[in-house]
Amino acid sequence: STPVATFCALTKAATSGLLIKSADYLDTLSKIKITAFDKTGTITRGEFIVVEFRSLHRDISLRTLLYWVSSVESKSSHPMAATIVDYAKSVDVEPRIEEVEDYQNFPGEGIYGKIDGNDIYIGNKRIASRARCSTVPEIEVDTKGGKTVGYIYVGERLAGVFNLSDACRSGVIQAMKELKDLGIKTAMLTGDNQDAAMHAQEQLGNALDVVHGELLPEDKARIIQEFKKEGPTAMVGDGVNDAPALATADIGISMGISGSALATQTGHIILMSNDIRRIPQAIKIARRAQRKVV
Ligand code: ADP
Ligand code: MG
Repeated sequence: STPVATFCALTKAATSGLLIKSADYLDTLSKIKITAFDKTGTITRGEFIVVEFRSLHRDISLRTLLYWVSSVESKSSHPMAATIVDYAKSVDVEPRIEEVEDYQNFPGEGIYGKIDGNDIYIGNKRIASRARCSTVPEIEVDTKGGKTVGYIYVGERLAGVFNLSDACRSGVIQAMKELKDLGIKTAMLTGDNQDAAMHAQEQLGNALDVVHGELLPEDKARIIQEFKKEGPTAMVGDGVNDAPALATADIGISMGISGSALATQTGHIILMSNDIRRIPQAIKIARRAQRKVV
């Protein structure tokens, strides 16, 4: 494309809330064949509702457990963390971030922190092995309706469980349809459980061509690598956990407002508005710019 066409395309994209970091990316954007999306905070709003929060340890009160969990979650930038912190405050439990020691984030698994002398691990099924818990007690967890489940370990013992529900962003179905009309294959890659992945897909009227759940950040990057064999691939993500996949894709698009600083640095394109309909729009703009000859 010509410098003028390029300039116009970049300006047009920016006006609609899409920051394209370099003019070089327009060419790749115009050729995209596959677009993969993260789920939590990208396809879904990442604004959860706490459906249940339960203590499974008879010596630990619900409020104490909530105090520990919300304090450790105060350290995390994951969308689930803000939900738990707000939930605690809503029932007058005040999280104390300054009481948390040795905080650690295990991308795609969960988090760890020490508080009041207790080792607290919070995350999905995978976090059990971080807590060195080999005998996972059978507990009833309601994942129906696609809920995101959090397991809480105090030391090596499963001490609590919570589940959260999230909703898809508006405009997602339309965005998927527009991508399809552009001849682009769509996929969802998520670290959340398989039920939550399938539920989101159902909510979208099965609009996505491919859905994968229970992925680690490096699994997402590996799948992007596979997609790249089929054609130029874009990845849209929000969290710290998506950085490897965003970097592996031909075009990494990070969600601007709720995205972590790391994802923002990794992406080639920043989606300021969080409206994923801007993505097919930007591809159209890029394709038009490539065709223009002055
Ligand atoms: P997604 O791909 O849907 O954005 P992530 O890779 O960010 O999901 O996270 C995968 C899973 O790891 C979450 O569904 C959750 O079970 C667990 N997890 C990650 N961070 C946290 C946290 N701060 N607290 C509890 N669980 C977490
Ligand atoms: Mg995410």
